[in-house]
Amino acid sequence: MDAFYRETWAEIDVEAIFQNVNHVRELIPGHKTLMAVVKANAYGHGDKEVAEIALQAGADMLAVAFLDEAIALRKKGIKESILVLGAVPTLHIQTALEWDVTVTAYSKAWIEEAASILGENSQLHMHLKIDTGMGRLGVRTKEELHETMKIIASHSGFVLDGVFTHFATADELNSSYFEEQYTFFEEMVRIVKEYNFTPPMIHCANSAALLRRPKDIFNGVRLGIAMYGLSPSEELKEVLPIPLKQAFSLHSRIVHVKKVKKGSHISYGATYEAKEDEWIATIPVGYADGWIRKLSNFEVLVDGVKVPIVGRICMDQLMIKLPKMYKMGTKVTFIGKQKGAEITIDEVAKHLETINYEIPCMVAARVPRVYT
Ligand code: PLP
Repeated sequence: MDAFYRETWAEIDVEAIFQNVNHVRELIPGHKTLMAVVKANAYGHGDKEVAEIALQAGADMLAVAFLDEAIALRKKGIKESILVLGAVPTLHIQTALEWDVTVTAYSKAWIEEAASILGENSQLHMHLKIDTGMGRLGVRTKEELHETMKIIASHSGFVLDGVFTHFATADELNSSYFEEQYTFFEEMVRIVKEYNFTPPMIHCANSAALLRRPKDIFNGVRLGIAMYGLSPSEELKEVLPIPLKQAFSLHSRIVHVKKVKKGSHISYGATYEAKEDEWIATIPVGYADGWIRKLSNFEVLVDGVKVPIVGRICMDQLMIKLPKMYKMGTKVTFIGKQKGAEITIDEVAKHLETINYEIPCMVAARVPRVYT
């Protein structure tokens, strides 16, 4: 890791990721392909580092959202198979070939364009995406699938490594929509097989689906949020079949501390007024680090105790109120454990009225990641 000189860092618990992957492996025994989803800089945890940990822990391959993310991993020395889950414009198929990246074929229109560009001697590895109800990417009807399969079958440049779909409601306890999607996927897979294709990988499960229905995953999974130790939803937290350990924490240090007089104001807009003489510390974390202004009324941990952020969060700094004087350099925890107390990612998400996925993703790239 590069040296860094600021007093703020995210800590990634390598062992936690290891354990989470291992638990998932145990949940899906046999020769099932485990794809580690490391898009969005591995949900903010660090793409190359998480990719390496996951592969060591037993993942077979990787998945990202964009071709750019796959190329970034290749440039960092990752040799294993990488699937781009999102749309790769056909214009960039040649680039995907050059970097040995597997792409997603997601409509008849895409396949037609690809066929017109691709040389017969090329070997474009791809997974075919079926839209069974997510409404995002994928072949939507049986007719479209037949037409798409005819084009794939007639062009020697296509190598169909997989067929997949994505669930819209796997993280909810009510499974009726999930069942509809599942049944339609089974029908669509049968059509693919009519064209004498039995793709090595047939996969539908994200974390939620594999945690709830480990026996219904065909022969592969796309493991994202659970690898990072987070539950796909609050609902599922109650019924998780394996323990999950949060891997991400965020820390900083007090860089300035002072006693302000009763009536003093803090930060932009002078919105906070000290109710008495108060100890106020400055922490070098701001909204440009992802700690957005909406968190101005949230808390941090100092010496194992929750203390409030006071005044508006600035771009690079924020202020907290201390119960007593603490020295410069005292550790401040935004996410994670400190002396038996904890602020979880789920708590931050709840405060922001969003999902836990968003929280490590929003911690900016300028915050160094430290692997412990
Ligand atoms: N598969 C696809 C197509 C996705 O878009 C995602 C993430 O959004 C995943 C798998 C991983 O999902 P999760 O993080 O819920 O495991």
